[in-house]
Amino acid sequence: MATRIAVLGAGMVGVCCALSLQRRGHTVTIIDRKPPGRETSFGNSGVFSRSSIFPINGPGLVRQLPRHLANRHPAVRWRASLLARPLWLAGFLKECTSASLARRSRALDGLIALSMGLNRGLVAEAGLGTHLRETGWLKLWRRTDGPSLAQAEAGALAAFGIATRVLDARGVAGLEPDATGPFAAGLLITGSASVDDPGAIVAGYAAMLAARGGQILQAEARAIYRTTTGWRIETTVGPRDADEVVVALGPWSGDILRPLGFIVPMGFERGYHVHLAMADGCGPRRAVYDVDGGYVVSPMAAGARVTSGVELAARDAPPDFRQIEAAALSARATFGLSAQVESTAWLGARPTLPDSLPMIGPLPGERGLWAAFGHQHIGFSTGAGTGEIIAAMISRESTPCEALDFSPARYLGSPG
Ligand SMILES: Cc1cc2nc3c(=O)[nH]c(=O)nc-3n(C[C@H](O)[C@H](O)[C@H](O)COP(=O)(O)OP(=O)(O)OC[C@H]3O[C@@H](n4cnc5c(N)ncnc54)[C@H](O)[C@@H]3O)c2cc1C
Repeated sequence: MATRIAVLGAGMVGVCCALSLQRRGHTVTIIDRKPPGRETSFGNSGVFSRSSIFPINGPGLVRQLPRHLANRHPAVRWRASLLARPLWLAGFLKECTSASLARRSRALDGLIALSMGLNRGLVAEAGLGTHLRETGWLKLWRRTDGPSLAQAEAGALAAFGIATRVLDARGVAGLEPDATGPFAAGLLITGSASVDDPGAIVAGYAAMLAARGGQILQAEARAIYRTTTGWRIETTVGPRDADEVVVALGPWSGDILRPLGFIVPMGFERGYHVHLAMADGCGPRRAVYDVDGGYVVSPMAAGARVTSGVELAARDAPPDFRQIEAAALSARATFGLSAQVESTAWLGARPTLPDSLPMIGPLPGERGLWAAFGHQHIGFSTGAGTGEIIAAMISRESTPCEALDFSPARYLGSPG
């Protein structure tokens, strides 16, 4: 039965949920305080990543813990404000076992495999094909054991049927002629793709939704509560009623759920970006992860976007630009890039639950209230699959991939 559905949040996840619901005949309103795609879904590396099935909290994180404690690893930094969330941190570290990683990788593989085809379909449907590059996603190692690390990762991905090409130094130079690591090895994930402006993709999807009759309300959602017939959302432009509500507020999702009694155990893997000018076309040819440099660099409409690794901190802690400054310096030297385009770096927060799996599904004990958040490093890639899962659940269809591991009930009991 068609219903009125309010989707809170116009990031990649919310917009994809809205599109999938609209396709099933529901009347959809998206509510966001900003225009679509202006927050986390704006500042990411723009990779539709087929291979991001191994969350960072696996056994490897434990092995690296001494280096992380010293706070010198370029890929992971932590700030004192992290210690204000001891339960999240304990839960995050508790999952670092091989058995947990295997279970979670299987779950993420299903979601990512589903999303890859959907992403390509949505980009084409929305007329955004010029933003998409089918050039894969390249991981590079400088260290001497790089070749064996690349081989090991290729093997681990092959076990999931994910195609890669292992590259030696010559192979890397062939694909990335401006890269001067020197790089000992590379791994090209051939089935991945990237875009040159992630924010434009989300805005384009939202425009498609609006052209088909969906509403986009620019307002802050202040509270949600149950009415006799459904749900009311209090916003800065007045109340809005809906039969069902999807919470897709990314890093802010827990805020609106707290008054209903749900304490969402969300942590924040913050990340920064800057753009560097690509003088004479010099720079990366595709999205590249310099593993030892601890950054990703990708050619974007605005320049070569350098994104930092993880900064574990409170969501709203003041920025500390040292990590992105070091990354930009390294990317600049490695790819022959020029000056920084804008004066300050962008900062966002990857929303991460302790098991690094998103919450997709009904909130326990609250009929008609749905969760679609917590997509850590891969929400740009997996918004599309999340939308299909949520829309299937709300429409009482079977889900297009196994979604039990994403159940909100694993952390949130019924508020009673
Ligand atoms: C540096 C970096 C690099 C990344 N690279 C990649 C990548 O290459 N590939 C990939 O797949 N993922 C990547 N990610 C992760 C990805 O960006 C996120 O997982 C994804 O954008 C989350 O989308 P979302 O829709 O859940 O959240 P968001 O995009 O943050 O959307 C949430 C929305 O909620 C709105 N909002 C919040 N509170 C309210 C309120 N009270 N009322 C109204 N509106 C509100 C916000 O304005 C926002 O628009 C990266 C992340 C970072 C930080």
